[in-house]
Amino acid sequence: MKKTIILALATAGFCSLAVQAQDTVDPAELQRIVAEHPAWAKWLADPKLAQLTLAGPKMPGSPWRADDIRRPQPPAVDTGTHCAAPPPGDADVLFDGRNLDKWTGDHFEEWTVKDGVVTTGAHVYNFLKTKASYGDAQIHVEFREPHQPHPPLNPQYHGNSGVFPMGLYEVQILDATNNETYPDGMVGAIYTQSPPLVNAGRPPGVWQCYDIVFHAPHFDGDKVTRPARMTVVLNGVLVQDNTVLIGATVHGKVASYTAHAAELPLALQDHGNPDSHVSFRNIWIRRLKAS
Ligand code: MG
Repeated sequence: MKKTIILALATAGFCSLAVQAQDTVDPAELQRIVAEHPAWAKWLADPKLAQLTLAGPKMPGSPWRADDIRRPQPPAVDTGTHCAAPPPGDADVLFDGRNLDKWTGDHFEEWTVKDGVVTTGAHVYNFLKTKASYGDAQIHVEFREPHQPHPPLNPQYHGNSGVFPMGLYEVQILDATNNETYPDGMVGAIYTQSPPLVNAGRPPGVWQCYDIVFHAPHFDGDKVTRPARMTVVLNGVLVQDNTVLIGATVHGKVASYTAHAAELPLALQDHGNPDSHVSFRNIWIRRLKAS
């Protein structure tokens, strides 16, 4: 009877209900993974994290689950230290080191500007959002990961931030060095959807740069008629090649779309983890003609 109901729901377009089912962690497999990767033992000892990364819902068209640590780690590439892209003449300069006049947010006071850099408060999970709204856009963001002498147990608490075109679609920011996590949650990933082609992240304290080309999804009523797409270059290296998004960013689930406006604010994430301050400079955006 239960099977029939799920099948009926799936047929009626409620597929997400059927694919969101969580499995339980296989203790033998957990033991095997920890034996192969001793560095993961501490955080995998947390049952919630083990559940998240080993027993999440299966991703459509992929052998992996959402946030799956078993997915192969993308190879690391050296990208040097260069990072500069002055805003083109037709760009909206969102942050030039002086103030946050172009921004707002529910915890706006958490973000501080000092010495030409804006830094997360690392107290409260919140977003800095542009006052203006954008759809298709080219986005440039420079960021710097924090030194954390005593790295947190959970790799996701180490320099976690993110660039969110439309406030909904996250390109992950996270410490890329000695901080292995599920590849669809590492720097360069479209969070819980698409791991980067390579690990092009730099160490804490070194400036890094994202150049993102974002195409907004199109909707007809509640239906998505064209999904969002993103091309992402991290530190001069292509990490997302016109990746098609399956929905707005979620955690531990399979994403799906909910219809929204054609333009929405760009957002930066403060993940709210103590001592994990992420800094930004030179942020600009160019509106692209709808294609
Ligand atoms: Mg993030």
